[in-house]
Amino acid sequence: MKVAVIGTGYVGLVSGTCLAAWGHDVVCVDKDAQKIAGLQKAVLPIYEPGLADLVESNAAAGRLNFTCNLAEALAGAALVLIAVGTPARAGHGDADLSFVYMAARELAPHLETGAVVTIKSTVPVGTGDVVEKIIGSIRPSGSFSVASNPEFLREGVAVRDFLDPDRVVIGVEDERARKALMDLYRPPLEMRGTPIVVTRRRTSELIKYAANAFLATKITFINELADLCEEVGSDVGELALGMGLDKRIGASFLNAGPGYGGSCFPKDTLALLRTAQDHGVSLRLVEETVTANEARKRRMALKVIDALDGDVDGATIAVLGLTFKPDTDDMRDAPSVPLIETLQRFGANVRAYDPVGQENASRLLSDVEFCLDAYECVRGADAVVVVTEWESIRKLDLARVKRAMRQPVLVDLRNAVSHGVARELGFHVSAIGRSASA
Ligand code: NAD
Repeated sequence: MKVAVIGTGYVGLVSGTCLAAWGHDVVCVDKDAQKIAGLQKAVLPIYEPGLADLVESNAAAGRLNFTCNLAEALAGAALVLIAVGTPARAGHGDADLSFVYMAARELAPHLETGAVVTIKSTVPVGTGDVVEKIIGSIRPSGSFSVASNPEFLREGVAVRDFLDPDRVVIGVEDERARKALMDLYRPPLEMRGTPIVVTRRRTSELIKYAANAFLATKITFINELADLCEEVGSDVGELALGMGLDKRIGASFLNAGPGYGGSCFPKDTLALLRTAQDHGVSLRLVEETVTANEARKRRMALKVIDALDGDVDGATIAVLGLTFKPDTDDMRDAPSVPLIETLQRFGANVRAYDPVGQENASRLLSDVEFCLDAYECVRGADAVVVVTEWESIRKLDLARVKRAMRQPVLVDLRNAVSHGVARELGFHVSAIGRSASA
């Protein structure tokens, strides 16, 4: 099947590439000419493990093409995936749908008769209806369908998630769309028995928000329990293990940390709340999750300040890990940003290191000294703060870290390194969900 993918970001590029790997004939289109020029030479605009090889091999096989020309991309395409961004509208919290609506207006004149336009972007309930109206107003006599197919991939393991998903959700209003999407996902269905959940369009749109809000709530639950652990002398890691082995609960998303971030949970929880408010429904659990998470992110700086006896003015703080999680270069809504900004407001000098996120981080942060590696970062520091649990940071040689620092203070916001070893070396350790110790 020929598929056009509009938007070549984290979701569009991974989706288009993996669809090509399944044998579909894919054209990815983006407005960003620099991105497309790079992709035409197999230079990726994002860091995502395993993606570069897959782009290269599928482009070489002629199944994956990149263009800025929408008309060219849509010629002969039976299926069009919209994978443009839907960020939170500044100051409002609801999803900014301008990119989706713009894509709908732009694609309408070039749409093949009978094509299925599928919204892969995360969009509020009813967006499919609006997209259908937009296309219908430009192509009043055109025959087309609009479907929903939310994406659940996680950055860092996106290729694996797309090729071997827990489930695929498709929301359709007619048989043509159902058939096209079943054909699209036939490879994982046949090779892996992937469950395909077929719903009406509005339910599919809501499933994505419900799933993300649930996961955000689960993270916030364990984070609050971590606070209690610190007060009562329990260990949140052991607590999570004891809880998570219960199959009804599940072990994932029970890692306490500095609060969730990233390009999805913060904006999607807010957008869901806005939808609920618009319909007079109160989602109190989600409201509390959002409030608790914001407060937590702000509190993390105080944890660092406490570890330095309440004063960071003039202190040098080494921050290890900047992205919202390991194995991505995505800095959107990363907890490292409010942490660093708050420390700077209290007078700290911040040095930072991240294996791949520094370029994106440098656009969001000012007056931070970015370092070439973790050991250079901790040189002369009064405290080292672990914010993102990259494998290389987990495996740090703590003895070497201690030798390089001015004083041995470790604040581990991910419980990523061995606190036993750190303490033996003489570090003062402040962790998440464990009592601090000298
Ligand atoms: P992104 O910002 O990385 O990519 C969006 C791309 O769309 C950009 O390259 C931009 O240039 C392009 N674009 C915008 N308007 C366009 C137009 N009219 N024509 C052509 N190209 C256009 O965004 P993303 O992270 O890939 O997210 C896309 C959607 O997928 C969002 O709704 C997001 O919520 C959802 N989603 C993201 C993830 C994730 O982990 N990033 C996971 C699941 C779902």
